[in-house]
Amino acid sequence: TQEQLRQAQKMEAVGQLTGGIAHDFNNLLAGIVGALNLLDRRLKAGKLDNVQRYIEAATSSAMRAASLTHRLLAFARRQSLDVKPTDINARVVSMEELLRRTLGENIVLRMALEPRLWPALTDSNQFENALLNLVINARDAMPDGGKLTVATSNTHLDEAAARAFDELAPGDYVLLSVSDTGQGMPPEVIARAFEPFFTTKPIGQGTGLGLSMIYGFVRQSGGHVRIESQVGQGTTLSLLLPRHVAEVAASEEPLPGEPPRAR
Ligand code: ADP
Repeated sequence: TQEQLRQAQKMEAVGQLTGGIAHDFNNLLAGIVGALNLLDRRLKAGKLDNVQRYIEAATSSAMRAASLTHRLLAFARRQSLDVKPTDINARVVSMEELLRRTLGENIVLRMALEPRLWPALTDSNQFENALLNLVINARDAMPDGGKLTVATSNTHLDEAAARAFDELAPGDYVLLSVSDTGQGMPPEVIARAFEPFFTTKPIGQGTGLGLSMIYGFVRQSGGHVRIESQVGQGTTLSLLLPRHVAEVAASEEPLPGEPPRAR
């Protein structure tokens, strides 16, 4: 019946959400374990330099994991995305250390951040999880090392450009892209990449939830995810997030010749 179908769809959505959270949670736990291992080695070697950094890294991952479980609880209470004006560059910079550690020594991290980036309208916690997931995917695509570029820019989409990204509204967007020099994705992988549980990784290594979670959250905040890839050359994953346009302060005088603003 109709009701059973609705129920089944609801269960599927909950399954996707909890699976996705478990996935992100695992990433953060891996970060904590990694930092503790490094700390352990340092202490055994009697070297105390950098020790503070590893402690901070473990603490910051643990705090992010806590915020993840808070979001699960918030969902149980039927709350939605916490969309706010967000400084994407600041979020990226705050994660630089974590990203570097995730990439390891054979992958060079390059940042190309637009200094006058517009604020974006998004959920900053979800955004950080998305960025970490994109970087992990890029790392997995470069087992022999390579280069990873995280870039931000301001993008205006006119009618035609917006139409090219299915139902996206024309206007201003903040673009974040993660480019790697890895193995790339053939068209049949690109076609299925956003499907929940679609993975090409060995069992135990991939859940197939990273990109589907990212897609869900970005679409929900009014944006779009784009994949560009060349097999053997590399991949660029781009998130287009709506620009936050500040409301004109009520005290501001109208310009000469302009009608008074509605209060
Ligand atoms: P998972 O990483 O757990 O497999 P995802 O949903 O994040 O799940 O990704 C789905 C698939 O998309 C991956 O298994 C991989 O085949 C492909 N993919 C994602 N990102 C990249 C990338 N940067 N380079 C090459 N392939 C990628």
